[in-house]
Amino acid sequence: MAFVNENFLKLPGSYLFSEIARRVSAYKGEHPDADIIRLGIGDVTRPLPPACIEAMHRAVDEEASSATFRGYGPEQGYDVLIEAILQHDYAARGICLRPSEVFVSDGAKSDTGNIGDILGQANTVGVTDPVYPVYIDSNVMAGRSGDLTDGKWSRITYLPCTAANGFVPALPEQRVDIIYLCYPNNPTGTTLTRTELKKWVDYAKANDSLILYDAAYEAYISEEDVPHSIYEIEGARQVAIEFRSFSKTAGFTGVRCGYTVVPEEVTVRTASGERVPLNPLWNRRQCTKFNGTSYITQRGAEAVYSPKGQRQVQETIAYYMENARILREGLRSVGFQVYGGVNAPYIWLQTPQGLTSWQFFDELLHRMHIVGTPGVGFGPSGEGYFRLTAFGQRENTLRAMERIAGWK
Ligand code: PLP
Repeated sequence: MAFVNENFLKLPGSYLFSEIARRVSAYKGEHPDADIIRLGIGDVTRPLPPACIEAMHRAVDEEASSATFRGYGPEQGYDVLIEAILQHDYAARGICLRPSEVFVSDGAKSDTGNIGDILGQANTVGVTDPVYPVYIDSNVMAGRSGDLTDGKWSRITYLPCTAANGFVPALPEQRVDIIYLCYPNNPTGTTLTRTELKKWVDYAKANDSLILYDAAYEAYISEEDVPHSIYEIEGARQVAIEFRSFSKTAGFTGVRCGYTVVPEEVTVRTASGERVPLNPLWNRRQCTKFNGTSYITQRGAEAVYSPKGQRQVQETIAYYMENARILREGLRSVGFQVYGGVNAPYIWLQTPQGLTSWQFFDELLHRMHIVGTPGVGFGPSGEGYFRLTAFGQRENTLRAMERIAGWK
């Protein structure tokens, strides 16, 4: 007889996006002519930078000839891409990493979800709240979560991030073994300064904890005092793994490419107290369960770092951040309390008149024909908040704010 991993049975259905779809389709059913603007999605709308397209075309042609054809590649990624990553994302910021510390992958979702494979089941886990759901669900699957009561898992420590604390999580009162940090943050669009991030690195060092640092939105940072990488903080090489993605940087949400940095100094303990480095374990995990990101994709990602690619990526990011400005200012002009949208493509607003996240969702849908994402869907501390994204088309963003101007 085969037995199920019962942890999967604990997972509630993916309620958030199915409930949004249900409410929108019910409204559409009753109002078929409603012109609904969707500002809820986390996907990009701009096409890939031409430099990436050209590089991928060239790579496709290489696959057409037996002299240049590539089959299985290195599971860790091709050297050319790893070298470009080391030089542009790290050395340029004074961070020295070794090629063997970078693992190219098919994106940050897989890596943030899979990293738990090399970590023991008994680890206690801390997350900021609201949170990117993958961190929680992957720990539920691994049996680290305990049970779900009132929207919280009993063995997960939730660190509230709300307007009351300026969206800066307090250090946990009870020690945690693993802490997930995501900056710039999805969903709140907020960031940590260097000083604030240093507190976490110091905490991890003092408590022998591991930081899983998701920097998928790093490319959107515009302010000086916001670190682009956790390795800008002294000591982070001993305690942090960093995840990056080409999805939001360069429109790779459909093409799929990201990478994870596991410094050789990061170690965790065995039950008997022996220190074990994680780098070889992640390498082993990837070599066993992952056969590499496609050559064509990696050539496309490498082109992000070419001078042309960098210019084109900056243009796209500027486009989304102009959307973010339009959203921020449009919402503020009618009295909304708005956060984020400066170093991230997400706008996090406080729902007005004490409405719950879902009540506000309905109001916005029914009165303005705009769809966003209820904050409570990202965790208990998201209640009373709402997420809009700057990834939409400019025209739709402007039309949405014209409608919002009539909000009372
Ligand atoms: N991490 C965060 C915080 C995200 O918001 C997302 C996507 O929305 C991802 C990771 C996934 O990135 P990728 O497309 O590289 O899998």
